[in-house]
Amino acid sequence: MKLQSYLMGEWREGQGEGVPVRDASTGEVLARVTAEGLPVKEAVAWGREVGGKALLALGFQERGRRLRALAQYLSERKEALYRLYATTGGTRRDAWYDVDGGIGVLYAYSSLARNLPEGNLLPEDDFLPLSKDLSFQGRHVLAPKGGITVQINAFNFPVWGLLEKFAPAFLAGVPTLAKPATPTAHVAEALVRTMLESGLLPEGSLQLLVGSVGDLFDALDHRDSVFFTGSKATADRLRRHPAFLERGALFNAEADSLNPAILGEKATEEELSRLAQEIAQELVIKTGQRCTAIRRVFAPRERLKALLEATRKRLEALRLGDPREEGVDLGPLASLEQKAEVEKAVAALLEAGARVYWRHPGREDGAFFPPTLLLAEDPWPGALHQVEPFGPVATFFPYGSREEAARLAALGGGSLVATLATSDPEEARFYLLALAPYVGRLHLLNARTAASSTGQGSPLPRLLHGGPGRGGGGGEAGGPPPARRPPAAGP
Ligand code: NAP
Repeated sequence: MKLQSYLMGEWREGQGEGVPVRDASTGEVLARVTAEGLPVKEAVAWGREVGGKALLALGFQERGRRLRALAQYLSERKEALYRLYATTGGTRRDAWYDVDGGIGVLYAYSSLARNLPEGNLLPEDDFLPLSKDLSFQGRHVLAPKGGITVQINAFNFPVWGLLEKFAPAFLAGVPTLAKPATPTAHVAEALVRTMLESGLLPEGSLQLLVGSVGDLFDALDHRDSVFFTGSKATADRLRRHPAFLERGALFNAEADSLNPAILGEKATEEELSRLAQEIAQELVIKTGQRCTAIRRVFAPRERLKALLEATRKRLEALRLGDPREEGVDLGPLASLEQKAEVEKAVAALLEAGARVYWRHPGREDGAFFPPTLLLAEDPWPGALHQVEPFGPVATFFPYGSREEAARLAALGGGSLVATLATSDPEEARFYLLALAPYVGRLHLLNARTAASSTGQGSPLPRLLHGGPGRGGGGGEAGGPPPARRPPAAGP
């Protein structure tokens, strides 16, 4: 069966055989993906014209109400998505992060609409006097740019990834053309079918392209944007397209990252234990396939072993298996290709001087990859901070002073998020300042925050999600409320 794209108001099938999408646990071919011969450039023009007009006819308030209604509609039908999710290797808890997390973003943006005016224009500031008698004044106003937003998503969050880009675009009055990653495109296709069946989305406000974008970028100009989530390598290739360099379309990237976690010098034993819990959780959720997962752990030299042991203890009793089986804590990676990528990354880290401290004795067949803790006694080789194993792998490093820890964390070249375990305000202030140029979000973990913290790995629609440098340099569309977001980052 070939997956279909929804372009110009119709479900359409690409030509040719396409590439297979497989069940992560069994390897069974579930569907094939091809966009060959699809009218992608025409879909851009159609989206601008038809979708743009239809969205502006609604205004912020009605669009906000529809986002809420859509969230409710999807909530009532999420079991079907949960069932499909197991084919990606995700457990029910993983599905919850993706499906319910995505629905939560719809609710969050619907609530934000309450702070917006009627209509489609959003004043950014008050009137600015430009003449002595105030008869001539100026004001900055945000307005829809009249273009389309092409949303390219990574394979690991087929639901949340699509909804967290769609929601702000819809609220802003910008039509979406979503392009899911091939390995989990069947989940995104099912989601879009349900969204369209709801009858809540005006014609042209949401299109879906399953498969390669082909020459779509050739149709983009200064009115349009591409919101990309995926690896740095792909982001770097795409951002060089003339659509961005010559015609002024916006390219916003949210890329990969080697997120650090630091055990503060002043951290208590309880904070050490909480950090171990956090690291273990980051390796287990989505089998470590989250861009925000903890990849590098820094601890004072004399406490590193204790942190490694505490993390290992939390991981060793877990069960790897097909997520459809009872009692499974973590599933396989999304595909054999992903497993090959993780194996390659671990080999590069070992080559750079890390060693395997502990490896879970669970399954290694098919796309299964067991949780692995690496230890780098010499923390300085650059490659240890540059290679991202996109799976259940974290590397532990010793540090001698907080200045050293901050310098090591910075070697990641820019990260989406960092965790600091401490309750010492002075230590927290030091890292806030030292890491500000390198990290998008700083998650403070201590006895006070732990009870209600959603953890390092969960981007929240009310906070900026994005990171400098290697993190892509963009702010995810699902960032802070429109009025507080830098204009360049908006859809
Ligand atoms: P990827 O290989 O870079 O692909 C990302 C998306 O780009 C996919 O939809 C892919 O489509 C598409 N793509 C690839 N080549 C393209 C081209 N020439 N033109 C247009 N689109 C193209 O990344 P991935 O393997 O899906 O995801 C894993 C990576 O994403 C990890 O490095 C992870 O850190 C990062 N990630 C980051 C975030 C974040 O929020 N920062 C979130 C999730 C994942 P096809 O699949 O059809 O090739």
